[in-house]
Amino acid sequence: MGDTTTYTGGCHCGAVRYRVATKLDGAMTCNCSICSKTGTMLTFVPETRFELVAGQDALTDYQFGKKNIHHLFCRHCGIRSFGRGVAPGGERMVAVNVRCLDGVDLGAIPLKAFDGRSLPND
Ligand SMILES: [Zn+2]
Repeated sequence: MGDTTTYTGGCHCGAVRYRVATKLDGAMTCNCSICSKTGTMLTFVPETRFELVAGQDALTDYQFGKKNIHHLFCRHCGIRSFGRGVAPGGERMVAVNVRCLDGVDLGAIPLKAFDGRSLPND
């Protein structure tokens, strides 16, 4: 993955911090029941390209529906800076909230709308 950049990011209060290597040539917005409320802009990376630097003990897990996805949030500030899940092929993935990356020009990132509302609950 030579064309990736390593970004740092985390929650609002600073308890949760991570590093992620990704290309960031786009982000996904989604209209499913949770994304439409949290307003996350997501990019997905294999778990091997994500490193939680701090805050494992600050994370609270929220699951609903089929409980395939761990919608993690900081128990101090409530920010959802990333989540964990498994891709259809079985690979462990991290959904990074691009809004929580340091020094990223959010307006410059092309957005792709995903129709998550039409999927069965996840
Ligand atoms: Zn926090």
